[in-house]
Amino acid sequence: MTAPPVCPACLGPLDPPDVWSDRWRCGRHGDVEPFHEAQSSREALLRSLGRTSQVPVWLPSPMPVHWFASGVGWAGDDRSGAHATALSTSGPSPVGGPAEMVLVAEAPRIGLGARLAGLSGSDPARLDAAPEAKVEAAGHPTALWPVTTPPDRAAFVGEALGVWLWCVLWPADAALLLLEQLVIEDMRDDATLVDHLLFGAPGSHLSSL
Ligand SMILES: [Zn+2]
Repeated sequence: MTAPPVCPACLGPLDPPDVWSDRWRCGRHGDVEPFHEAQSSREALLRSLGRTSQVPVWLPSPMPVHWFASGVGWAGDDRSGAHATALSTSGPSPVGGPAEMVLVAEAPRIGLGARLAGLSGSDPARLDAAPEAKVEAAGHPTALWPVTTPPDRAAFVGEALGVWLWCVLWPADAALLLLEQLVIEDMRDDATLVDHLLFGAPGSHLSSL
């Protein structure tokens, strides 16, 4: 079952390609990479992205204790492949209560990470001098800069393997997870990473504003 794709930046409906243009169009954002969230078969979609995506498909490895995969999304079309990928994970916040973390890899000007972070533009504004967090991405220490978000979440952005890496967490104090040396791997490098992944109840943020 697949829902019609929506705008990655605003979740608005899209006009499909037609005889005048081969691009999907948002009334607000113009030509966009259509965004899809897996409604079922999340594992199959993740495996397929690992084979075909143009950008990394980030997975925490190992997953934080008691965390699980809770959603898979991507932006792009079947012809040119994914130009943005998003994996949602859920589990206990370090300070108690449930938390959700979405990892996004995306080419510039798509707007998926910015929408999840609650920003109005499609890319981060100028990053302040000092990064605040660090993850290990595909074996490389990777600096992440905090971005100003609505108070219900925390978001960080950096660059890994030539594209944006976003990490958005709900609630905001779940950002403490990033102090625990988060290690993420690109599933394109190792398809067996999915074999160890547990899928649980769907998260609520991949397709929310
Ligand atoms: Zn839009």
